[in-house]
Amino acid sequence: MTEQKRHALITGASRGIGAAIALELAKVGHSISVNYNSHPNDADKVVKDLINLGVEAKAVQGDVSDKKSVKDMIKSATDSLGSIDILVNNAGIISDNLLMRMKDEEFDKVVDTNLKGTYYCSKECIPSMVKQRWGRIINITSVVGIRGNIGQTNYSASKAAIHAFTYSLAKELATRGVTVNAIAPGYITTATVDVLSEKLKDHIMTWIPMKRFGTPDEISGMAAFMASEKARYMTGEVVKIDGGMAI
Ligand code: NAP
Repeated sequence: MTEQKRHALITGASRGIGAAIALELAKVGHSISVNYNSHPNDADKVVKDLINLGVEAKAVQGDVSDKKSVKDMIKSATDSLGSIDILVNNAGIISDNLLMRMKDEEFDKVVDTNLKGTYYCSKECIPSMVKQRWGRIINITSVVGIRGNIGQTNYSASKAAIHAFTYSLAKELATRGVTVNAIAPGYITTATVDVLSEKLKDHIMTWIPMKRFGTPDEISGMAAFMASEKARYMTGEVVKIDGGMAI
């Protein structure tokens, strides 16, 4: 089955899992909009790597937690590379604290970025997908949204809510050629995990049957599959990639 060349927007693609997904989709030949919020140099580096793979790519600044910023970012991406066929809602943050100590701002910031960001970006991209009767929405969540985690009530709630969002939107768009799926990674070696103390990493390792953290390219292959023609009958699915952590 040959893959048609599409335009993919990946939020939070300036590093980590988002950057790995951008590279994987570029290998298929898709043009890529690399969204970032605050690190333009990182995004430019990713864009350079994508162009070296022979595809069109552009960095687009935008804060996914801000509705107006999302509108402007998607307009900029669309003006440059055409309407968005594949949306990967990857941008996400943590702000860990025990609930007893959590500030309202910590809770809101995480929900606004992870959940509302997914909502704003999806809503903005859906009309053109529905019009052309083809689209892919891929949400990057977390196994913590399935099994919970101490200190992450905000983060786990935001990710679990995206699972429910995925199921509902998949039903809404099922007859329109648009699939909506999610990937729930376990612990993956990116900046998010690098900052954890060695003691905490050792403790987390006891939860993982495979006894190692994953790598971004162990997530990106599934995103490429979900974006492909081969996955056309798959919607409303949450795929865990976590070394067995949530078994
Ligand atoms: P990361 O290395 O910290 O990178 C986060 C990316 O998100 C950066 O490109 C950052 O851009 C962008 N970003 C942050 N806030 C944003 C905002 N408001 N608007 C737009 N972009 C924003 O993250 P990661 O570890 O690769 O994680 C990627 C996704 O996977 C997240 O949704 C995360 O929750 C999920 N996940 C990660 C793990 C893990 O172990 N790493 C596990 C489970 C799930 P700037 O730097 O330019 O601001």
